[in-house]
Order: sequence, then C-alpha cells, then structure tokens
Amino acid sequence: MQIFEGIAVSPGVAIGEAIVIDNEGFRIPRQSISPSAVDAELARLRRSVDSVASDLERHRRDVTEQLGEECGAIFSAQQQMLIDSKLQQEIESLIQSEQFSAAYSVSRTLRRFAQVFQNLENQFMAERAHDIVDIEQRLLRDLLGHEPEDLGDLDSPVIVLTHDLTPGEAARLDSQHVLAFASEIGGPGGHTAIVAKALEIPAVVGTGAFRTEASAGETVIIDGDRGLVILQPDEATVSQYQQQVEQHRSHAAELAVLRDLPSETLDGQRVELFANIEFPKEVSACVDRGAAGIGLYRTEFLYLGKDQEPTEADHYQAYAEVVQAMSGRPVVIRTLDLGADKMNQDSDPYSERNPFLGLRSIRLSLRNLSLFRTQLRAILRASVLGDVRVMFPLISTVAELRQARTELEKIMDDLEAADIPFNRDIPVGMMVEVPATAMTIERFVKEVDFLSIGTNDLIQYTLAVDRSNRDVASLYDAADPSILQLIHHVCDVARKASIPATLCGQMSASANYTMLLLGLGLRSLSVPPSAIPEIKNVCRHVSLEQCRQVAQTALPLESADDVTHYLKQELAKALPDLAIH
Ligand code: PEP
Ligand code: MG
Repeated sequence: MQIFEGIAVSPGVAIGEAIVIDNEGFRIPRQSISPSAVDAELARLRRSVDSVASDLERHRRDVTEQLGEECGAIFSAQQQMLIDSKLQQEIESLIQSEQFSAAYSVSRTLRRFAQVFQNLENQFMAERAHDIVDIEQRLLRDLLGHEPEDLGDLDSPVIVLTHDLTPGEAARLDSQHVLAFASEIGGPGGHTAIVAKALEIPAVVGTGAFRTEASAGETVIIDGDRGLVILQPDEATVSQYQQQVEQHRSHAAELAVLRDLPSETLDGQRVELFANIEFPKEVSACVDRGAAGIGLYRTEFLYLGKDQEPTEADHYQAYAEVVQAMSGRPVVIRTLDLGADKMNQDSDPYSERNPFLGLRSIRLSLRNLSLFRTQLRAILRASVLGDVRVMFPLISTVAELRQARTELEKIMDDLEAADIPFNRDIPVGMMVEVPATAMTIERFVKEVDFLSIGTNDLIQYTLAVDRSNRDVASLYDAADPSILQLIHHVCDVARKASIPATLCGQMSASANYTMLLLGLGLRSLSVPPSAIPEIKNVCRHVSLEQCRQVAQTALPLESADDVTHYLKQELAKALPDLAIH
C-alpha cells in the first residue's frame, strides 16, 4: 500500500479501478502480463522500436532535405537515444523479470531517463528530456495503436489518475463513469478543483509524482476529505473506507431534510444561499438542494472542452434552460471569464508570461467585442424568461466597468430597434476580486446594482500566490488577515450604499468560515450546490450576535493560522455534534 498526500479540493471518498493517463493524455495500460506472454511482448517491443526508428529516419531525411543538416540532426539524436543499449536493456528486463507489459515498461523506463535529464543543471542537457518524452509517445502510439484517451467517453466506472487536468478536460469528464480523480499538479483554488465540485466527485490535486507507482486496473482510493491518494490499499484500509463511503451517504441523507427549512440564524436573520454553477445540467442539483437562486453562472464553461466557439443560439439555449428551471428565482449570469487557466484545449495558457495578470476575463471580452456582444445579446434575450441579472468579472477600473455597461446599452438599443423583447432594467453587478477594487470599492458602488466578492482570485492577487500552483499552495489561505479586512471593508461600503453584496468564492462553501462571513456583514453566499445543506445547517445553529463577536475577535488576529484555529474552535462550540434541527 502506498499513500500520497495532496490538496483536498472536492470532498468525499471513492474506491474504484484506476485508469492512469500520462502527460500527453495517453492511457497507460495495465502493468502486468502472464509469464507465458513474455516472449511475445519482447517481440512486440522490438517491432515497435524498429518501426519508430524508421519513422525517425524518414523525418531526418525529409527535414535535412528541406532545412539542412543541422535541423535533421535533431532526429539523429533521437535515433541514437532510441537504440541506446542501456535503455533497451532496462525496458527488456522489466518485461522479463517483472513481467510488465511492453507499454508500461517503455513508459516507466523513458520517464526515469527523462527525469534524470530534467534534473541536470546543464540547460542544453535538460532540454533533451523533451526528446525522450517524444520517443516515449512515439513508442506508446505504436504499441497501443490508439490516440490520446477521451475521458468524455468511458464505458465503466473508473478513478482517473493523471499528471494534470485542465479545466476544459475536467469539464469533458464523463461524470457517469468518473468516480473521482487525482492529479500530480494543480493548486487549491484552480478551476479544475471547481469543476470537480460541480461534478460532485472527490478530487485531490498537487500530490507530486505518483503515477509511476500506479497501474491501470488496480484498486485505488481517493480521499477527498483529507487529500490522500491510496494505491494498492490493503483489505483493512478498503473496508475502513467502505464505511466512510457509507457515512458520507447517510450524512448527505440527513442533511437533505434541510431542503425546505428556512435558511436563517437562530435570531431570525435570513441568509440567502445561492448556487454556483458551471453547466446547465447542474441546475437540478440546485433546485434539489433548495438554492435561493443562481449566484454565479460561470458561462466560460460553454467554451471549454468544445472545438467550436458557441453561437448566440448556444448561449441563449443554455441560459434559457437555467432561467426556466429556476422558475423566477434570480440567476446571475457572469460574462465570460476566459483566459489564464480557463483556456480551450488547443490554446496555450502559457503563451502569456503571466496569464493570471494578463489578457483574461473582462479584459479579453472588451478586446474581442464581437465575442462579448454575442454573449450580451443572448443574456438580454433570456432576461424576459425570469429574474436574470448580469455580472462582469475581474473589474479593476471604473473605466472598464463603464465600457462594459456601454456595450450592454448598445446591445439594448439594437434589440429595441429590432423589436426583440428584453428587460431594460436588468440588474447589473460586478465581481470584486482585485485588491485595488476592494480597497476603493466606494468608487464602484455608485455604478452597479450589486457586488459579488470573488475570493478565489482576491486571495491570489492579494497574497501574490498563484491559485493553481501546488508549490505555493500552503500560502494560499482565505483566513489571512488581509482577506478578512478586505471583505469587511467591501461589506461596510456596500451596506452604506444600500447595495447587496454576496460572496461567491470557494471560501463561502467551507463551514469553517460561515460565522465569520455573517459577522463581517454578508447576508448572502453563493456556493456549489452540494455545499448548500452544510452551510444552511451552520446558519441555523448560530445567532447573528454570536457571528459578530466571532468576526470582531478574528479581525485583529495576527496570522491565518490563528484565524483558522479560532474559527474551528468556534464552529465546534456552535455545532458540537453537527446535529440537524
Ligand atoms: C472567484 O474568483 O472567487 C470566482 C468566484 O471566480 P472564478 O473562481 O471563476 O475565478
Ligand atoms: Mg475569479
């Protein structure tokens, strides 16, 4: 049994059969073969090596002809590596002595070689690691004879073990069959984590390398509560986790009774619990959990994992489905927040040096007006179907907000001229997720109807910590005193300006923060649908007065650790047995 520790990003526990995906999206096959298949496997390996060697020779000749000797030499170097006797011996001995499959042995050996090159101080040599990975891919393609795995098209329940999963790939996961996933990289606030929550599957990210130890078809446990990936679990561990799966089920059933109970504190303060969604199909989960409405619809997911840009009709259809299903309850449609880690499959997120500080979100929409206008038209057309509100993400200047509003008004005029119905009084809001915006929120409140605090980004920009980077994950902390102060300030200013403020970052979905957030002045929260019962349960066990005290004590504390420790203690006092009333 081997245990790898990562970051728990979506709660729950799953036990199931692993599929292991390599860096290029190939499914790494089952590890073992039978002793009688060893000779055939060695022959298969040799055939593949020959076939890849002749491919490389063909490339070398073509490239030399077109671009000269120097460029052709790239392939000569790969040819040398491929036929290197030490490499061949290592692969063959894994097949012979360990009875590993040829594909698994290739993958394991070449990755070990690539790792050695990667760790070299010499930049030139380190870059050779790419050549080795390329050889691995060529051999795997030949041995397995298939294209990269399509995780949107599986036929049995599996747990996906992967190096990385982009938000687009996560969005394409076949939620019928993927029980859970774990990735070697990724951070606590990344959008992949958000998708895992939307799919309501346990997920662990940022474990560091573990896939070389994993084999397809073996049993694996993902503990999304504690951030653990357990390979080759022993029987006792499996049965202990089976009990936990049961406990999760019965806890969810207990919380389900909260659905029709009011969301209010012991002293009668109403707390609106809205839901965050990424896909229209989540709307039934929102209705089932008794959401007051949709507080954040992340519309960029219409783009992710798709080959083609959505048309106005695609936008409209998605919005209409959500708005109609919510039957009159508010639906906050956030305009596209594309860019940074939310890119399409074939875009390169790192083509910008600092994608999180670059052309993302409202900045990207305002530079691509036809894309933005298409979306605004669809939102406005859907506005007659229910209580639709529009919200702009990542606003960092008043000018940007005004420009976005001007675009909205232009589309209103166009629709009016074409006699297409829409709601001219559609409420317009903005996200507060840039520290500069939070600090000077007075400048913005006069120009919007509502605010929504996006702590996922607010934390990364305030603390200078990339939300999706596991190496700095320990610094990404919602409990940092600076975050508390910014939220407090925004709530104060919004209250004085009499405009509603909600909080839709992942912080709002953690029961640890509920008392603090109510005490800081929030009266509405937007959370993933699966978190609504838990948060409602906390609200129903505390008084507003108690929450104010908690916030007052927490605000001046010195560190995130002090705040976390204190909040856990207060939650345990308020809900000692997590009883449901
Ligand atoms: C946020 O930043 O808190 C937020 C809700 O938006 P997203 O996670 O989509 O960036
Ligand atoms: Mg954000």
